[in-house]
Amino acid sequence: PQIKAPYQINVDNVSFKYSPSTKLILERLNLTIMPGEKLAILGRSGTGKSTMASLIRGDLYPTEGKITINGVPTDEFGDHIADYIGVVHQSPYLFNTTVLNNIRLGNEDATEEDVWNVLKRVGLEEKIRQLPDGLNTKIGEAGLIFSGGERHRLSLARILLKDVPIVILDEPTVGLDPLTEQQVIDTFINELAGKTLIWITHHLQGIDAMDRVIFLENGRITMSGTPHEL
Ligand code: ATP
Ligand code: MG
Repeated sequence: PQIKAPYQINVDNVSFKYSPSTKLILERLNLTIMPGEKLAILGRSGTGKSTMASLIRGDLYPTEGKITINGVPTDEFGDHIADYIGVVHQSPYLFNTTVLNNIRLGNEDATEEDVWNVLKRVGLEEKIRQLPDGLNTKIGEAGLIFSGGERHRLSLARILLKDVPIVILDEPTVGLDPLTEQQVIDTFINELAGKTLIWITHHLQGIDAMDRVIFLENGRITMSGTPHEL
């Protein structure tokens, strides 16, 4: 299906378990995410934050209940859900091919100029210009290693190039030192202005810029409010 802006996400009485014999990870969850809203999802390790991201992205489907975008259940989108939602995963995966191919993934019509433009926006232009073959450097080649923060920024570059309206960041700053963390957060928030942003995190740093924060605990939302209220 083709849907049009503005995009509203509805999580409607959603329960989820990974297999019939295991426990419920999410229990009768209800949540509406408004167009352009900046939502932070907080919660301890193992509470189901990444699971929720996969459900919203349509990589997993609810065991019960449904998740819709503008009324259309996520399972009706198929691969086209990627036209609407992009995810920066907790451990971004890079393919053993060139930097260019990695960033153009799912967006093969983009020009090199477009790619340089997004690299500049995520602060990686200089780093890539210094590589032996620039954009054509193979990521798998010996000696070419991107740090954790750089992987997250490459992953963001991919999403910016595709220009999707909804972005999920799953702990995009985990493992970074506080200064780099703040820089990455600032880049993300500036570059994603106007888009719906779902930001999964386990701590409070950087959430001031969010419209709403929810706490996930034992499969339920136990608290919800503006960063100011919390
Ligand atoms: P963290 O903050 O550590 O990233 P999280 O809140 O993202 O944690 P999830 O990754 O969603 O937590 O995991 C929630 C629960 O589901 C955990 O108990 C985890 O072991 C379990 N789980 C996650 N992925 C799978 C899977 N593919 N199959 C079975 N169980 C899983
Ligand atoms: Mg997680």
